[in-house]
Amino acid sequence: SEAARAPGADGTESEAATELDLLWGKIQEAIQARIQREQFETWFRRAALIDANDQAVCIAVQNGFTRDWLNTYYRPVLEQAVSTVLGSPRRVEFHVDPELMVGRGLPPQQKEEFETVPPPAIPDRSAIPEPPKHRGLLQASDTTLNPGYLFDNFVVGPCNRFAHAASVGVSESPGTAYNPFFLHGSVGLGKTHLLQSLCQSILHREPDTRILYLSSETFINHFIGALENGDLQKFRTKYRNVDVLVVDDIHLLANKERTQEEFFHTFNTLYNAGKQIVLSSDSPPKEIPTLQGRLVSRFKWGLVTEIEQPCYETRMAILKRKSRTRGMELPDEVARLLAEHIDENIRELEGAVVKLIGYSRLAGKPISSELARECLRDIFIERTGPPSMDDILRVVTERMGVKLSDLQSRKRTNAIAYPRQIGMFLARRLTRLSLEEIGGYFGGRDHSTVLHAIKKVERLSEEDAETRELVGSFHAQIQMRDA
Ligand code: ADP
Ligand code: MG
Repeated sequence: SEAARAPGADGTESEAATELDLLWGKIQEAIQARIQREQFETWFRRAALIDANDQAVCIAVQNGFTRDWLNTYYRPVLEQAVSTVLGSPRRVEFHVDPELMVGRGLPPQQKEEFETVPPPAIPDRSAIPEPPKHRGLLQASDTTLNPGYLFDNFVVGPCNRFAHAASVGVSESPGTAYNPFFLHGSVGLGKTHLLQSLCQSILHREPDTRILYLSSETFINHFIGALENGDLQKFRTKYRNVDVLVVDDIHLLANKERTQEEFFHTFNTLYNAGKQIVLSSDSPPKEIPTLQGRLVSRFKWGLVTEIEQPCYETRMAILKRKSRTRGMELPDEVARLLAEHIDENIRELEGAVVKLIGYSRLAGKPISSELARECLRDIFIERTGPPSMDDILRVVTERMGVKLSDLQSRKRTNAIAYPRQIGMFLARRLTRLSLEEIGGYFGGRDHSTVLHAIKKVERLSEEDAETRELVGSFHAQIQMRDA
């Protein structure tokens, strides 16, 4: 009868489902131990295991974009986790199931607060006029897009691979792939470059798309202007009738409560209409001071991706690219010199190239290390004194690919505990801090924990060549910071 086939009423079926869920829980754990939390939340939290047999496992995901992404970037991680949990390798297959999110009780796509908290001061929502007839480029955007900010000119490395791929993905199917798309990272790492590339790529493919690209500063100014002039209606019409809204540097909304309120409603309107929203910030959503909780949670609905500091190889590649586009080849020696000394900001890297080329032309001398030292003297200022804890933490996080917050967390998976122990060991060797003080830099651990870590790394350095080399090279890098 009907009742017998209702979900959950069939004993065997729901038991099988529970078993798959349990299995998936274990696989998720294994995956979680190997990748960053943010990546895990984005790609694996919403997936489900729907079948497992001797040959294969099948994983359901909510759309084709996720399937392709997992396939391209996470297949090895997945296969490894499946093999660990099931005891032998299986083929990994994917199944696209758009109902998945809804079925699993995850973020609602449509309703929520929008009905219960109506937007302020709009007396009649039907009064919002139709979109303007003329569909066109970048109406009312605050800047023209920089013609050089194209995907083609963006150097991809491990630090920005996800950010780049996600931007391309969003530009290929705005409003469907990932919404909102939230890109964060510190200054000068290429956020604006990627955001503008995304816009230009969409416009290249669909020239009629109504894209509004602006910094959140402009949003704030327009909003304040509208309040002062009693033009809110016009303001809303403008912001809520776009296909793609791109707001750069959204962290500037911190402490702007009324603007946040307005932005929240703009966000909802566009989101509910299936329009793409793209945001950038210098920090992850929850770390933006005084950002309303409901905005934070909205921002996390889609894809949150970090753009990290470029590794040495990427810095070299960027230096070469930037000099070539300016008609000069940097000698390797010079590129290495710059890449070693400028490691936190691509804008500075680019600035150094521009300055060096200009200087070389002006002085009529070829580019050399001496010329670089002469012209970029400020970059090579000597640093003295013992290394600071910051130096140590920077090297460990950068070279071992862990986050500072993980080192300071309670997590004890080997992927995090090992770098943490190395960091404690280096701190003991290179600074005059006490065991307690060192523990303080790693999430308030007590002196016995620190001592244990130091002993362990000492032992490993004797027994294990890999650890010995690692510690040796970190040691050298930290000491050489004044080279
Ligand atoms: P942000 O917005 O994160 O502060 P920008 O996008 O303004 O940084 O980037 C600073 C400069 O560095 C820009 O000129 C940009 O073209 C350049 N840049 C950043 N990342 C890359 C990259 N991966 N490849 C090439 N140029 C880059
Ligand atoms: Mg920027």
